[in-house]
Amino acid sequence: MGMTRREERIAENESFFREVNERIDEVLTATVDREMIRFVCECGDSSCTERIPMTHDEYEAVRLESTTFAVHPGHVIPDVETVVLETDRFSVVRKQGDAADVVEDTDPRS
Ligand SMILES: [Zn+2]
Repeated sequence: MGMTRREERIAENESFFREVNERIDEVLTATVDREMIRFVCECGDSSCTERIPMTHDEYEAVRLESTTFAVHPGHVIPDVETVVLETDRFSVVRKQGDAADVVEDTDPRS
């Protein structure tokens, strides 16, 4: 059982947004520290331009695992990912199966 092209594209989009956030985190944490950082939504929609306010520590908690992503509330794609945390500012989703392999392989920290 492989992954569909759609699932693959979603996982690739999420990985791309994660790389953007890595840079946002790197640059902004040094300057604003505990303040809210406006991360990009890491959802599977490549045209998404939503920003999600999170502290550096909140983002770090998501990044501890290669398979979890921070998305704007309502940007969860329920048939390809599971919600593991919901707040009024962001939701955290977990990838599973083959999609988890894709996002683990593309994790810039692994
Ligand atoms: Zn989004």
